[in-house]
Amino acid sequence: MNALLLTEYMKLEMVEMPEPDIGPDDVLVRVRACGICGSDVHGFDGSSGRRNPPLVMGHEASGEVAKFGANVRDLKPGDRVTFDSTVYCGKCFFCQRGDVNLCENRQVIGVAPKEYRRHGAFAEYVNVPRRIMYKLPDSFPFEQAALIEAVSIGVHAVSITPVKLGDTAVIMGAGMIGLVTLQAARAAGCTRIIAIDVDDLKLERAKAMGATETLNSKNTDAPAAVYALTDGHGADVAFECVGYSEPVSTAIYSTRKGGTVTLVGNLQPKIELPLQYVVTRQIRLQGSCASNGEYPQCIDLMARGVIQVAPLITAVAPLADGPSWFNRLYNHEPNLMKVVLQP
Ligand SMILES: [Zn+2]
Ligand SMILES: [Zn+2]
Repeated sequence: MNALLLTEYMKLEMVEMPEPDIGPDDVLVRVRACGICGSDVHGFDGSSGRRNPPLVMGHEASGEVAKFGANVRDLKPGDRVTFDSTVYCGKCFFCQRGDVNLCENRQVIGVAPKEYRRHGAFAEYVNVPRRIMYKLPDSFPFEQAALIEAVSIGVHAVSITPVKLGDTAVIMGAGMIGLVTLQAARAAGCTRIIAIDVDDLKLERAKAMGATETLNSKNTDAPAAVYALTDGHGADVAFECVGYSEPVSTAIYSTRKGGTVTLVGNLQPKIELPLQYVVTRQIRLQGSCASNGEYPQCIDLMARGVIQVAPLITAVAPLADGPSWFNRLYNHEPNLMKVVLQP
């Protein structure tokens, strides 16, 4: 099969590879679309340590069932499917509790840290365990299905956050994850959604995706503006979708006493925290990791247009164009959102 292989850091090449072998609980998927994730771009130069070449990356994908192992009885060849990026074990303490996103033995498709290697979906075929696979409705476009993983991160973040009808939410960071989280927050009942970013183009897009107000924190005191918009109380909830000290602080300073800040972004391993502000105002801080079984909900929300991803797709391109798209993303070319490759 054809595959886009990370042969060494900063080097992606189209190569011929054998089709992956599958076990009794696995499905071989003919990949039709696979999105380039920010984490792939960060893995491309070796900085994140989460991609060790040689590796086929790609974990945001959809396609058709090609064949399956002996224990798989509910699929047929040609079924349209998508899959979670996390392969959980189903046996550890956390899996048994139902927190499969916190699995002790979790592997991620298309990721190779030191401990294991699992080829991903920038290839004609990928091997996926049945338990993380979901069927797609017939009319669901493959390119949009490749964005379900991103949608699931936003839906999970909102689902673990105490949101009530009529709440005000701050969305910190209007990138891909911020914009899907924004739509999920709106669907969950937030009627005022204030998007904050440093990029006016991203803020324009946030407005188009349902933000009621936008603030550029480069030239505005964003927390003061949020207070002015909320009778001096602050937002009920904030979703931090960046992961640096400054945006995390902005999210915290924009949140009311007793409110919740859900931390989704994690670009930096450590940040500075306004501790006394958090404690004395009884602000709840919580992390949100990947997603925990929200895929069927995401498919339904997207199929009914409650969460829209079509405006977030910058380009759909053949897999062979992957190296040049990786370079453009790596060089932070302005106004690029999701790029979807078609093997
Ligand atoms: Zn991803
Ligand atoms: Zn587990």
